[in-house]
Amino acid sequence: MAAAQGELYVCGTPIGNLEDITLRVLRVLKEVSLIAAEDTRHTRKLLAHFGIDTPVVSLHEHNEAQRVPQIIERLLGGESVALVSDAGMPVIQDPGQGLVRAAVDAGIQVTVVPGPTALATALAGAGLATERFAFEGFLPREARRRRAHLEAVKEDPRTLVFYEAPHRLRAALADMLAVLGDRQACIARELTKVHEEWQRDRLSGLVREWAERTPQGEFVIVVAGAPQGAEKTGSGANEAGLDEREIRERLRAHMRAGADKKAAVRAVAAELGLPRRTVYQAAMALPAPSASPGTDAPPGDRARDS
Ligand code: SAM
Repeated sequence: MAAAQGELYVCGTPIGNLEDITLRVLRVLKEVSLIAAEDTRHTRKLLAHFGIDTPVVSLHEHNEAQRVPQIIERLLGGESVALVSDAGMPVIQDPGQGLVRAAVDAGIQVTVVPGPTALATALAGAGLATERFAFEGFLPREARRRRAHLEAVKEDPRTLVFYEAPHRLRAALADMLAVLGDRQACIARELTKVHEEWQRDRLSGLVREWAERTPQGEFVIVVAGAPQGAEKTGSGANEAGLDEREIRERLRAHMRAGADKKAAVRAVAAELGLPRRTVYQAAMALPAPSASPGTDAPPGDRARDS
């Protein structure tokens, strides 16, 4: 009689802090016949830490075509297999999709044993809307394609979640500011690790911050969705969701520093990645540079605004 089929377990592993491994993942990793891992050296270190000696084979984009049929054969022969990646949930911007697909096609039971994932961790702490969000993964490396991708999500009202490599962080932030406008955003860096850091700011602030620091570590960028309804059309917000007052504050700062209105509009449009027309509209409400600053602000706001 043929042996019962094995099961494929898709196991989440820590994204930095080893305490985040679950008891269930540890049990499954001990009990299966084989672990398919993105990087066997990396996974062996994790296993050694927890005293697990289950055999490990590699499964990554370069050997998937040969490896997947071998693993499926073992599953069909009755062995259970765990799939892990270097960090977080396998398949989420990591290898494993081909194995899961093949297992589903072969009628093998696929069980997900959940663990940490950077996208949900960052989203949960960003302080931005979470009712609806879009996971965008890594943006294209090439500048033209990256901007085109951002153009394609520009009108999306959902919170956007991106993964980014440190050496592309500055370019990604600059393009986000230029294409999406100066939205509220959050950078979640080195989550669950010793140097974990959260930066909640507008994109212009994040661009400035990272112009002065060398990006190192792992990053998730969470960006507010496109402004909608009243947020977009009324209540002092412009088409990029920016408060008109913020634009005027920046214009005033440039004019106090000696710029004329035209030069200030140019500078602020560049800083915020906004069309000059939008900034010009806000500038119309400003008095001439010689007048006392802050006179266009409502009385209650004058102290802060000037
Ligand atoms: N499978 C993983 C998951 O579930 O999150 C993602 C793997 S993907 C190859 C690696 C990217 O995930 C990093 O470049 C970074 O954008 C994000 N990431 C992973 N771990 C992170 C951490 N501890 N802090 C911040 N971002 C992290």
